[in-house]
Amino acid sequence: MTDTTVTNWAGNITYTAKELLRPHSPGALRSVVAGSARVRVLGSGHSFNEIAEPGAEGVLLSLAALPPEVDVDTAARTVRVGGGVRYAELARLVHARGLALPNMASLPHISVAGSVATGTHGSGVGNGSLASVVREVELVTADGSTLTLARGDERFGGAVTSLGALGVVTALTLDLEPAYEVEQHVFTELPLAGLDAETFRTVLAAAYSVSLFTDWRAPGFRQVWLKRRTDQPPVDFPWAAPATERMHPVPGMPAVNCTEQFGVPGPWHERLPHFRAEFVPSSGAELQSEYLMPREHALDALHAVDAVRETVAPVLQTCEIRTVAADEQWLSPAYGRDTVAAHFTWVEDTAAVLPVVRRLEEALAPFAARPHWGKVFTTAPAALRGLYPRLGDFRTLVTELDPKGKFSNAFVRDVLAG
Ligand SMILES: Cc1cc2nc3c(=O)[nH]c(=O)nc-3n(C[C@H](O)[C@H](O)[C@H](O)COP(=O)(O)OP(=O)(O)OC[C@H]3O[C@@H](n4cnc5c(N)ncnc54)[C@H](O)[C@@H]3O)c2cc1C
Repeated sequence: MTDTTVTNWAGNITYTAKELLRPHSPGALRSVVAGSARVRVLGSGHSFNEIAEPGAEGVLLSLAALPPEVDVDTAARTVRVGGGVRYAELARLVHARGLALPNMASLPHISVAGSVATGTHGSGVGNGSLASVVREVELVTADGSTLTLARGDERFGGAVTSLGALGVVTALTLDLEPAYEVEQHVFTELPLAGLDAETFRTVLAAAYSVSLFTDWRAPGFRQVWLKRRTDQPPVDFPWAAPATERMHPVPGMPAVNCTEQFGVPGPWHERLPHFRAEFVPSSGAELQSEYLMPREHALDALHAVDAVRETVAPVLQTCEIRTVAADEQWLSPAYGRDTVAAHFTWVEDTAAVLPVVRRLEEALAPFAARPHWGKVFTTAPAALRGLYPRLGDFRTLVTELDPKGKFSNAFVRDVLAG
């Protein structure tokens, strides 16, 4: 690359693109797209695999220098957000207008367009993935022209969680709701033994958003994070003891990096993410994987992980269990099924982690586990076909909008080969 070396956030991927371009205006962006043979957009670079890599002959396109559009319509309760904007900035501006998003991921540092492109999610039995609030997508397609796809359009199901394969997303319009407050309560040491399926369902639904954390050094959860909306019933959690100090989900990391706990109410965008915008999220030295499965298999899937915990634990920093409501994006890992998500923050050692990822995937295969598109996985293209019933429709849409494969790369070709 002619620019300085560019890596993803984790540093495990160095992009090989021939150049990194940062257009300053929508017109310049359209010219770059129309004049290039191969383009991939780099969002905030928080994916852990080669999903954004355009290849050595391609252009890596950053939207970070475009005017950061955040246009709130208070009457319609929507926001139009530019393709390079991150959640931290979006949430602050939306909140200032008395409105809110229904959910956020564990960190606000990530771009909106990059997050919805990979099916990124938070937690909550009734909360869909971040893509589920998108009502309209504006794309610059292969010839440099603009195409808008809105909810209701028959192609919309492929348009949001699109892996960046349809074009450059220059704006998204999102549904909002009135602003609300959230309290965060942390509990410790919830054993897996003795948890029956019904109790486990109740645990997962014990608050608006629930996360269970474990290092799998023992069969149980070290921490349970409950995010309660103050307009919903009080927390009643008899299965574990309240934490006596502020916690970080990764053992040994400073709790100051995390959002306020001990039930102190605060604005939705300062409680729904685990990590504060002004601090490094998670451990910072890590790889991640995540598998999304039908929620009815939640407890069986956890027992399957427990069965391989002696393989998993030595390379694990933390594992997080969350829920996601079913959505309608064809390539969303929560497509068509209420979901339980098992996330793994690994040590930053690809050679040590990959064999464990394979072993874990074998253990979770009986539960139709869909890998998170932005994380480390080894699931074969042939297996993806069985996991995504609308993959063929997505392939047709890619061929229609990008017949010469300008926005394709090895990652996308593998997925489409499924
Ligand atoms: C510390 C940490 C915590 C995380 N927590 C969560 C979590 O809580 N929940 C979860 O689900 N995931 C989580 N992730 C994963 C993360 O949300 C995804 O990897 C997400 O894609 C990151 O967005 P990004 O903008 O950094 O994407 P990038 O990695 O930059 O890009 C992802 C994809 O989006 C495409 N893209 C980006 N912008 C555009 C655009 N404008 N137009 C077209 N295509 C575009 C890229 O080409 C690429 O294909 C976490 C990651 C990290 C590092």
